[in-house]
Amino acid sequence: MKVKVSNVNTPVWNELTVKSRIPEELNKLTEIAHNIWWSWDSEAVILFRDLDPVLWKEVGLNPVALLERMSFEKLEALANDKVIIKRMNDVYARFRTYMDVKPDSNRPSVAYFSMEYGLSSVLKIYSGGLGVLAGDYLKEASDSNVDMCAVGFLYRYGYFTQTLSMEGQQVANYEAQNFGSLPLERVIGKDGQPLVVPVPYLDNFVYAYIWKVNVGRVSLYLMDTDNEMNSEFDRPITYQLYGGDWENRLKQEIMLGIGGMLTLKTLGIKKDIYHCNEGHAALINVERICDYVASGLTYNEAIEVVRASSLYTVHTPVPAGHDYFDEGLFGKYMSAYPKKMGITWGDLMDLGRNNPGDAGERFCMSVFACNTSQEVNGVSWLHGKVSQEMFSSIWKGYFPEESHVGYVTNGVHFSSWAATEWKKLYAKYFDSSFMYDLSNPKIWEAIYEVPDQEIWNTRVALKNKLVDHIRKQFRDTWLNNQGDPSRIVSLLNKINPNALLIGFGRRFATYKRAHLLFTDLDRLAKIVNNPNYPVQFIFTGKAHPYDGAGQGLIKRIIEISRRPEFLGKIVFLENYDMTLARRLVSGVDIWLNTPTRPLEASGTSGEKALMNGVLNFSVLDGWWLEGYRENAGWALTEKVTYQNQEHQDQLDAATIYAMLENEIIPLYYDTNDEGYSEKWVQYIKNSIAQIAPHYTMKRQLDDYYSKFYNKMAKRFHMLAANNCTKAKELAAWKEKIVDKWDSIEIKFVSINGEPNQMAIECGKDYDLEVVVDEKGLDNAIGIEVVTVVTDKEGKQHIYSAEEFELVKKEGDLHTFRVKYNLSNAGSFKVAFRMFPKNVDLPHRQDFCYVRWFN
Ligand SMILES: *Cc1c(COP(=O)(O)O)cnc(C)c1O
Repeated sequence: MKVKVSNVNTPVWNELTVKSRIPEELNKLTEIAHNIWWSWDSEAVILFRDLDPVLWKEVGLNPVALLERMSFEKLEALANDKVIIKRMNDVYARFRTYMDVKPDSNRPSVAYFSMEYGLSSVLKIYSGGLGVLAGDYLKEASDSNVDMCAVGFLYRYGYFTQTLSMEGQQVANYEAQNFGSLPLERVIGKDGQPLVVPVPYLDNFVYAYIWKVNVGRVSLYLMDTDNEMNSEFDRPITYQLYGGDWENRLKQEIMLGIGGMLTLKTLGIKKDIYHCNEGHAALINVERICDYVASGLTYNEAIEVVRASSLYTVHTPVPAGHDYFDEGLFGKYMSAYPKKMGITWGDLMDLGRNNPGDAGERFCMSVFACNTSQEVNGVSWLHGKVSQEMFSSIWKGYFPEESHVGYVTNGVHFSSWAATEWKKLYAKYFDSSFMYDLSNPKIWEAIYEVPDQEIWNTRVALKNKLVDHIRKQFRDTWLNNQGDPSRIVSLLNKINPNALLIGFGRRFATYKRAHLLFTDLDRLAKIVNNPNYPVQFIFTGKAHPYDGAGQGLIKRIIEISRRPEFLGKIVFLENYDMTLARRLVSGVDIWLNTPTRPLEASGTSGEKALMNGVLNFSVLDGWWLEGYRENAGWALTEKVTYQNQEHQDQLDAATIYAMLENEIIPLYYDTNDEGYSEKWVQYIKNSIAQIAPHYTMKRQLDDYYSKFYNKMAKRFHMLAANNCTKAKELAAWKEKIVDKWDSIEIKFVSINGEPNQMAIECGKDYDLEVVVDEKGLDNAIGIEVVTVVTDKEGKQHIYSAEEFELVKKEGDLHTFRVKYNLSNAGSFKVAFRMFPKNVDLPHRQDFCYVRWFN
């Protein structure tokens, strides 16, 4: 027998999870840790921190990991600590009282779908504003006690954490998440095994595990495909947020939409309203149509009920921000669906096209969302307008200003973003109903009763906290990536809590114009180096890993911040996340935002600043266009002066410098004997009293109900009642109209009895008459006279649209009349418009058949 060099087999490792043993006395802590409610309850957070402050930091403020990592001896000691037990019992009592309230059954129920949720830095399933908005929304849904559930992904790697190289190059680090140490739980099926949802892909299935995050009283279900049941091609579907190629993106959106609906079905959950936060989840409507068709409806009937209960919220203001899929790729995964929906492949593609029938056009998820949702909204008043324009080609025949696309301005969850110090101050001076009535401006007016000194002291305390945090937290990272220790020491010493601190924290997309401030470095150096009136800027933010330009901006800021004249005056903090955001929006004096208008759909970080007595200095874009009040913050003008963006940037930069030099810095340093500026405090009070109440998440949630959910749920139930009787009627009516539409004949058009004479004088009444042969339809169409003006750019706008009255019916001949009067002279264009008419239509765009005639 030969002796081989070696003979070793490979070990088969068995999973060994050592469950931490928590003493029974501390069980309540485990329960609280598994509900994200702790993240917005200051006392719960402080309780966890006090269990072991060092470990608390080490585990990244994650209570589940904290309890897991504490030694049994340490836990036993805590179990015998009467003070801790008392505090635990107090927090738990409040938690139970909160949790035991049953959801309000008077308000419609909602299923919410989003690619990302920003609930806490601990759960890396968000990248920025869109996610934080969704997270805040769920928290408020819980606080307001509405019946809502939500669906998303549990990403294995989530969004990246950011470090910077010596040269200022962003390094994106993806760390695999250990789900067992996160504040979530696995959903278990009826068989006692982890619940698995099979989702059809190609000829096969992808299997998703389902996890649940308890967001107070709201359940957030997260799908996870990184498991042994799936192939190496499918496991990565839920690896990264906005990672991978277009094929993976499509696979994600299929999982979110179709898989999301299958998840709810498996769990036996049905809601009144299905709300897509962005278009990523729009394929829920494919699955919902399939279900209704399987239950016996035709496609035309099914789309009526599906559309009636679907709301689509768009967040991007530019068409390039939407997802488009090539027909080949889309067909690879979706070709089996048309048959189940009762339509052809071409029909499905057309639902995602601006120009149905144009075979060259890709499938656009947002267009599909528009076509399958009764209501669509932008996220601020201006963004609503921009969205009407952006989507106008879907509803040809109507002008953007006639569009049903509406808006709800974004808000922020007060308890998550107000610093503990401010919550205490509000609790002391505001009416006791405050926490249940957060968007009531009357209550906020009490801020005027608060002594100036107390407001100032609160601000100073939070500024000191921020500066302390920067000194401690960033010392080590900076030593790592900036080399020269002596420079770090001098940098840390220069950071000055008594300076006017200006914060800028957001995603580094180029439209946010983080570079604007650096347009004139000499002037900036003068501003920050004035020995009597020191000013310091704190920057932070991540750039998308594929966004080279955004990363370039970060690099440039890092380079500038290292010049001797800016050292310690311009500081860049790594890894902007929710924890850092909370510190910054409460610890600076001014929150600066300089986007290119109108590209900031809403923006929310400035709203978080509001809640903390931090003043906004921002472009009049997004929420600030609505929120800005005089003597309560500062606004960069809304006018676009230059077509050339570079010139516009220079003008805006010069304006920023001038406002800092002439208004803002003098106001801040106009100090009294006690060492603070009374005028500044007055600005703070104005900002809190006049602006803050309108930008809470409470106001946003209430707006969604009053503008959309309530009326939609009512109409949905009207259509769906008695086995969808009304939906079937409406579909049959539409089919009849479609059948006759092209044959309907305009027999006669006259003005004051004369045919075809359209020169009219202003201020005079004219009788217009139209006779239509409805070809067997009865009272199914409306006629209107539409007058438009043309603006300087050659764009047409509605001047007036007057509907005719039906005055006579003789067989199929219907006579319509209207009095027409133009009170202004000038050059107009005028034409007649015929459209289908039925009281059961929610709006004109729901059935977009239009015929223009003269
Ligand atoms: C609030 C928040 C955002 C969104 O801020 P914008 O003002 O919309 O840019 C992004 N990232 C984090 C971590 C946040 O907390």
